[in-house]
Amino acid sequence: MSTPQNVAVNGSRLWQSLMDMAQIGGTPKGGVCRLALTDLDKQGRDLFVRWCEEAGCTISVDRMGNIFARRPGRNDSLPPVIMGSHLDSQPTGGKYDGVYGVLAGLEVVRSLNDMNYVTEAPVEVAVWTNEEGSRFAPAMVASGVFAGVFDLEYGLSRADLDGKTMGEELARIGYAGDREVGGRKVGAYFEAHIEQGPILEAEGKTIGVVTDCQGQRWYEITFTGQEAHAGPTPMVRRKDALLGAARVVDAVNRIGLKYGPLACATVGLMQIHPNSRKVIPGRVFFTVDL
Ligand SMILES: [Zn+2]
Repeated sequence: MSTPQNVAVNGSRLWQSLMDMAQIGGTPKGGVCRLALTDLDKQGRDLFVRWCEEAGCTISVDRMGNIFARRPGRNDSLPPVIMGSHLDSQPTGGKYDGVYGVLAGLEVVRSLNDMNYVTEAPVEVAVWTNEEGSRFAPAMVASGVFAGVFDLEYGLSRADLDGKTMGEELARIGYAGDREVGGRKVGAYFEAHIEQGPILEAEGKTIGVVTDCQGQRWYEITFTGQEAHAGPTPMVRRKDALLGAARVVDAVNRIGLKYGPLACATVGLMQIHPNSRKVIPGRVFFTVDL
């Protein structure tokens, strides 16, 4: 078979699938709340699996619940070309995000089917479990096990705020697969994703290509001062933990600006103790995201 020219996917079919998937966990403002390994996540997974089976794919699920929908290649022993992303969302997520990366992969498979085109290597569409890390920390834990960054026991034992583990919840929704996690060659991996910032839109561009990784660092900092009554304690006698933390917040911001435009520095979480208007703060916990 000759290589087809000017190949295009079916954009309206992809759009319709995105809209259909967004029904599951849809929120009044038009977004999606579909946290990892909830009943809604199961519904989203079931719909994806049904679509892939209708497209002639073979489904396999590994022990972290990662789903792989496989379209065979002419030489099926070659490492697969994998496309994918995630179906889970943040509590106030959008319709696209990881879903777009998953369904774009499915649309490639559907388009190859339309053309009766047989690829040399097999093609797989992947759904990674709990990429968001919203219900179970850390983020990207199941793809991390696949890549060998975390071990399986660590992944399965991650617990949500109610103490339910990923292993228990995978079993409950029927996605505790039996396939080994990772341990196989991948020919190439593609992930389409909605940009999570404002830059492409601001520059009027349709698409960007990732060329580097974020070198992300997270710090957790506790400042300890001394609690005392706000009214009777003279200014010069105080050890105000929040005042120290406030100076660090400003310094973190200056670091981000100094190494811009690519550096970003954020203090996004702060807990003040005892958090009373009549008490000088004795302890402050905060996070820094660099
Ligand atoms: Zn995402």
